[in-house]
Amino acid sequence: MSILTEADRRRSFAVISHPDAGKSTLTEALALHAKVINEAGAVHGKGGRQGVVSDWMEMEKARGISITSAALQFSYRDCVINLLDTPGHADFSEDTYRVLSAVDSAVMLLDAAKGLEPQTLKLFDVCRHRGIPVITFINKWDRPGREALELCDELVERIGLQPMPLTWPVGAAGHFRGVLDVPEGDFIRYQRTDGGATAAPETRLDPATAEAEQGEDWVRATEEWELLAASGGEFEPERFFDASATPVLFGAAVLNFGVRHLLDLLVDLAPKPAPRIDADGEPRPLDAEFSAFVFKVQTGMDPAHRDQVAFARVCSGEFERGMVVTNATTKRPFATKYVQQVFGQQRSTVDKAYPGDVIGLVNASALRVGDTLFAGKPPVRFPGLPSFAPAHFAVARPADLSRAKQFRRGVDQLAAEGVVQLLKSDLRGDASPVFAAVGPMQFEVAAHRMEHEFSSPVRLDRLPYSAVRRLPDPAQRALVDSGRRSEVLTRADGVDLALFEDEIAMRILVRQNPELTLEPLVAEG
Ligand code: GDP
Repeated sequence: MSILTEADRRRSFAVISHPDAGKSTLTEALALHAKVINEAGAVHGKGGRQGVVSDWMEMEKARGISITSAALQFSYRDCVINLLDTPGHADFSEDTYRVLSAVDSAVMLLDAAKGLEPQTLKLFDVCRHRGIPVITFINKWDRPGREALELCDELVERIGLQPMPLTWPVGAAGHFRGVLDVPEGDFIRYQRTDGGATAAPETRLDPATAEAEQGEDWVRATEEWELLAASGGEFEPERFFDASATPVLFGAAVLNFGVRHLLDLLVDLAPKPAPRIDADGEPRPLDAEFSAFVFKVQTGMDPAHRDQVAFARVCSGEFERGMVVTNATTKRPFATKYVQQVFGQQRSTVDKAYPGDVIGLVNASALRVGDTLFAGKPPVRFPGLPSFAPAHFAVARPADLSRAKQFRRGVDQLAAEGVVQLLKSDLRGDASPVFAAVGPMQFEVAAHRMEHEFSSPVRLDRLPYSAVRRLPDPAQRALVDSGRRSEVLTRADGVDLALFEDEIAMRILVRQNPELTLEPLVAEG
């Protein structure tokens, strides 16, 4: 098969959700339908349906330090689907956001009883900023929850995203019978299986039969859907591609309800890999020679030896294990003898990969997040990865003052690698920079590495800030610094960030100083 054909059948996506919405369960269910594994229970042996994803996270957590995000690859119909993991829970970090620079679409997974939750909103902001098309999956419909219409309204009202349901639930949350297949007008009845261990059988019924069988529930579902259709909810693919609207599916991952629909949607509709724009603004054709960019570097995944794995998304060409590629940043060659696809506890060696795929490069201590790898000539370089709005801040000081030199070297290195962002201000001085992070776990990683790699243990004192904005006008620094619950710090790229204890503190300062100009900070670079 040609490279273009291979690229054409790739779908690379991530799930954006709040902890407990059911991401691990959905991942399992997808893999079950895609027949990578036949029984959900088979992956982990013991009873209970615990995802491969969460198993791995537990393993990482037990070791205390590294954060995981890799890809699960499975085939469905004639497609190869790459599901990139977005670490959540305590592992939520800048890496979680960076994963979104390596996908072509996202599935926003909502708990039917909860709707939009904070972590989902943060991740959605990044998708919106990058223009990533989003499919919405409303999960746990088998349990009592909110009204379907209310959940749809919430998308419009809170994030300005028009829902375009492709299925509509029949039976209120808690009495889930099946769905109205919107494009066909049919009823799809779901049947429970024991513990959700096998794909749920589906029966398709025409509307008349559905009404005779489901009565009021069917009528209500069609009426609700018509109501939504009348307010802009008709499906239009272009609005999905331009990310102004989202196809919506209802389901219950734990019962495998709605999961096949999601897979079909990914295959039929989700964007394929597109030529990536390089640092000069030129699109790199998919069938150009091999190129990829590193979106995550992880240390010490294998307890037996402290190795470093760099995860890269292939952007063009064919990757073959053993090929020698060039790192565009250092201009040095990198031998890819050990390349793996990593997911769960298993590692399997990969021989070939195509645009959209993720490769894990082992022994990759020379690779950094944002690096471009390429084969052949001329060289290509993709733009570095953006930095994201931090939400946690801590002042770093050397615990041992006699090791100030090591401290400085370590801090600069960690900042260069994107482990934490580095902020400074004249008021605080150079000796005590501020670490900024998306998730607090990044501080743990930084502290661990400062001590063990740079022999300079650090003291980290948390700062009470949680809200951050960009301050475009340097003349207004004093204004923010004069606030009791705010301060300005400068990022390594020269951008001034205004930090506030919380959103309220920010609003009070803006109210007192209407001339103060602040800009939202999502993702930059
Ligand atoms: P994650 O934190 O997003 O990975 O969530 P998990 O997949 O671990 O799920 C969190 C909890 O919700 C678990 O107890 C799951 O069994 C449960 N869960 C997931 N999907 C469903 C669903 O469709 N229906 C119900 N009732 N429970 C679900």
